Amino acid sequence: ISLDHYLVVGNPIAHSKSPLIHTEFAKQTQQAIHYEALLIDTSSGAFATAVNAFRANGGKGLNVTVPFKQAAWEFVQHRSERAKRAGAVNTIGFNQQGESWGDNTDGVGLVRDLTQNQGKSLTGQRILLLGAGGAVRGVLEPILAEKPASCVIANRTLEKAQVLVSLFAEIEPLSACTYDALAGQQFDIIINGTSASLQGELPPLPDNIIPAKRGWCYDMMYAATRTPFVQWALEHGAICARDGLGMLVEQAAESFYLWRGVRPKTEPVIEHLRYLLQQSVIT
Ligand code: NDP
Repeated sequence: ISLDHYLVVGNPIAHSKSPLIHTEFAKQTQQAIHYEALLIDTSSGAFATAVNAFRANGGKGLNVTVPFKQAAWEFVQHRSERAKRAGAVNTIGFNQQGESWGDNTDGVGLVRDLTQNQGKSLTGQRILLLGAGGAVRGVLEPILAEKPASCVIANRTLEKAQVLVSLFAEIEPLSACTYDALAGQQFDIIINGTSASLQGELPPLPDNIIPAKRGWCYDMMYAATRTPFVQWALEHGAICARDGLGMLVEQAAESFYLWRGVRPKTEPVIEHLRYLLQQSVIT
């Protein structure tokens, strides 16, 4: 049988879990695909050259990760609404005319992990998002689509949070602030979209921002051991997803669905990845 080819591209890319995840999805749904990782150099134009070569060779679709999500946004000929708002594309496909389309599945991945896997509705909730980089920008539209009561973006660099708010200001209950300004407020759901956990750090959060016994926390980062944020959340009595692995697998499932029209089961793949992480088979 001939296999349809897919890629994940980025720099670095060696640690990407996407080949593993999509290969598991393909086995489970009996789709004949081959999925691998490709390192692209960061020189100008290298991304477009690589994607065009892949398409010319019959490639069917790509996932795009750091630092090429904006380049992918510029590259594609058609963009979904959520990709337009995110200003970034993580999934590329080609239509019957050979034209490229781009979507962004990161946000829907987070929302599905929270609402379906963890069973936490966002509707009517006071949400606090920490950080104002690409990860937070990517999840804003799908979070706001769940109709939270309010959504505050806190960031060390206030201007970056304000820029994100300005992208949505006309319709949404969205605001920006610094960490200091959080003192005295409480939030039902706190989502860490900073890269602080990567450095083993905790964003400078004031005490008492989690309501007793009914606060929820989520760290987008995944690691074999608890991140400082997850540790902090549990110490403050919050209900907390173990890590952001669910988001990762859910965004992949949405890409797989866009390409193949089939929805894989995510739970066994999340469990498999968590096991491999804990055994240090993957990092
Ligand atoms: P960026 O580099 O674009 O942004 C980093 C953000 O983190 C900035 O807002 C920065 O603040 C903030 N920050 C960094 N260090 C600290 C600190 N010590 N205290 C407080 N704030 C800090 O990164 P991304 O947005 O691309 O990614 C962020 C994280 O999201 C990654 O670590 C990754 O683990 C996670 N992620 C997870 C995904 C998943 O599928 N689970 C998908 C995508 C991302 P400032 O602007 O002030 O510098």
